[in-house]
Amino acid sequence: MTKELHQYGIRELQTGLRDGQFSAGELTEHFLRRIDTLDASLNCYITVDNEGARAAANNADQCLAAGNADPMTGIPYAHKDIFCTDGIKTSCGSKMLDNFVSPYDATVVEKLKQAGMPILGKTNMDEFAMGSSNESSFYGPVKNPWDTGRVPGGSSGGSAAAVAARLAPIATGSDTGGSIRQPASLTGITGIKPTYGRVSRFGMIAYASSLDQGGVFARDAADCALILNTMAGFDEKDSTSSEQATEDYTANLAQPLQGLRIGLPAQYFDDAVDAGVAASIRSALDQYKALGAELVDIKLPNTKLAIPSYYLIAPAECSANLSRLDGVRYGHRCEDPADLEDMYKRSRAEGFGSEVKRRIMVGTYALSAGYYDAYYLKAQKLRRMIKDDFVAAFADVDVIMGPVSPTTAFKIGEKSDDPVSMYLQDIYTLAINLASCRHRPRYQNQAFPFQIQYHWH
Ligand code: GLN
Repeated sequence: MTKELHQYGIRELQTGLRDGQFSAGELTEHFLRRIDTLDASLNCYITVDNEGARAAANNADQCLAAGNADPMTGIPYAHKDIFCTDGIKTSCGSKMLDNFVSPYDATVVEKLKQAGMPILGKTNMDEFAMGSSNESSFYGPVKNPWDTGRVPGGSSGGSAAAVAARLAPIATGSDTGGSIRQPASLTGITGIKPTYGRVSRFGMIAYASSLDQGGVFARDAADCALILNTMAGFDEKDSTSSEQATEDYTANLAQPLQGLRIGLPAQYFDDAVDAGVAASIRSALDQYKALGAELVDIKLPNTKLAIPSYYLIAPAECSANLSRLDGVRYGHRCEDPADLEDMYKRSRAEGFGSEVKRRIMVGTYALSAGYYDAYYLKAQKLRRMIKDDFVAAFADVDVIMGPVSPTTAFKIGEKSDDPVSMYLQDIYTLAINLASCRHRPRYQNQAFPFQIQYHWH
């Protein structure tokens, strides 16, 4: 049986395009056809941009013919619907932005466009990236392609499911506490959440600004590294962007593992992990050992503080970020408001779903005068302790390994009435988001590069 185009890895696509085995137009058409026939049962895409993708593929073919193509030219991909795209709806999975068409491109979008990559469409996600199952989307849940009765994980569930079902060779995502790593794991593909500041957040709709980071889903680590080469880099439009020079992320892919010190945190291998998940991690670790790596027991003693501090800091930041959505500037506005206050209230009540409202309420409470020190400030102190754990651990090991989440993909509806059990999905992923926040020097003494504290009047 001959291999079909959606089964190719990125390097094979690059070679095929250059050798003229197929054109960018044919490749894009192949994926658009797959989306057309298969997405109705998966719900990965909120918007499919047939025309835009075809036009970009046409341009890509011209660059390839003229010999001035970038390595990624002609490779189609999808964006999580959190990245602003000029002329294509950017909903962030919310009714609030169902009518929002951004007038500009996010930096990540701009970079991939400049490389000549056609955008197939925008993928489904938990509303404002809040969730671990993709069930909080205004556009309905995404189905896990391996078992459509189960969730693909979240919040970047549409991107993960699209790559797993080969409805896109690559898709972008964002990760505030696990939203790239957990859905990648639950759909059996590879995802990378780069270090905070490595990929620009400009034009990526903010959920919790000190934790949010853009990244990517692909079939394997090599494909992720290739696309990261195009996405990463300093951006003066993002005040938290890293000025450190980028590397070629493909350079070390074939490096031998002899002598690599792999840290195994005791706290990530306890009873909370399903037996099946633990067994598959152990068998992967055996492989690493057989290839010459050394397994080292380490401790991240403050792991248990990650969920309580994250679920204060993330709601606090989101309550500030989402305050701009008030029905005045853009987004949903209620019908026939009686007065200004009625417009604010009803626009927000109608536009946001229940998980988003829950977090805005928690965050506003935690930031209000009188409670700030007791909750928000305390959570920031815990954050420091979590960071110190990682700094100490990395003094001894090269990498830290462990499960991504305690379970495999769960059934749709299984956890939707139990927010706390849903929050536990990210117990192993969110600590690193808390640990890796950074700021450019001029912001060093501030909690954030913007005013966040609220007062009750
Ligand atoms: N599941 C976590 C949350 O709901 C993480 C989400 C994310 O990384 N965007 O906040």
